[in-house]
Amino acid sequence: MATNATLRPGAIALVTGASSGIGKAITEGLLDRQVRVICAARRRKALEEVFGDRGEQVLLHSLDVTDADAVTALGTALPEPWRDIDILVANAGSDVGGRKRFDEGSIEHWVQTIETNVTGVFRVCHAIIPGMIARRRGHVVTLGSTAGLDTYPGGAAYATSKHAIHGFSDLLRHDYKREPLRITEIMPGMVRTGFATARHQGDEAKGQQFYDDWPATMQPEDIAAAALFALEQPDHVNVAAILVTPTGDK
Ligand code: NAP
Repeated sequence: MATNATLRPGAIALVTGASSGIGKAITEGLLDRQVRVICAARRRKALEEVFGDRGEQVLLHSLDVTDADAVTALGTALPEPWRDIDILVANAGSDVGGRKRFDEGSIEHWVQTIETNVTGVFRVCHAIIPGMIARRRGHVVTLGSTAGLDTYPGGAAYATSKHAIHGFSDLLRHDYKREPLRITEIMPGMVRTGFATARHQGDEAKGQQFYDDWPATMQPEDIAAAALFALEQPDHVNVAAILVTPTGDK
């Protein structure tokens, strides 16, 4: 019988960026499948609002993926029963100050996006993958984007970061092709989340308007369904990548 060593009741997942949008929806899907989830994000209060009532099935963990020391210390900072992570969803990402011509955007914002979306993913994967190899099981899900395949005006840092994630996800499959590790990249098109509000530094009206002006959008649950499809496959199947776009928009 086909087995799944990573998505099973009692398995442990770490989801970065669990407080909002896609990370929140994937976390809900994992919790529905009786997985125990370490919900990580910077805003503790947001984590508490979303998952504070889930009892012992969740561990809320304040984490900034750009904080090198905090990410490196993950292995020892987590309580002992939460350390054997089976599933890593490297989802945290942002585009603060984005959608501007390269020279007109702030260099600090561009660098922050690269540090969150690329260096942050590197750091988290580097901290978690060795334990997966030692335990002979693990599934890493990265959040790429259609912006990892095409560029667009104003996407200097974001499109660059997602091209990097596309390459990195492929690279991981090469590096671990002799290991029992699965690596899946989910590449969504436009999804209605807190992402556009975060781009405008908390301006909710501007964030909503951005999605209202877009020809067609998806919901976070649509992307969670894709991630869970990959996670639900038996051990011998690695879904390498899933590209999901809204109907009516490329
Ligand atoms: P979102 O609603 O803004 O959620 C982003 C999450 O990342 C939040 O939980 C945020 O929590 C967390 N985060 C941001 N910076 C962080 C940091 N430095 N350290 C730790 N956590 C951090 O946006 P989303 O759309 O769900 O985005 C999730 C992922 O999907 C991102 O990688 C994004 O690039 C990707 N994606 C989104 C779309 C889309 O159209 N929305 C399309 C393709 C790909 P805190 O603020 O509390 O830290």
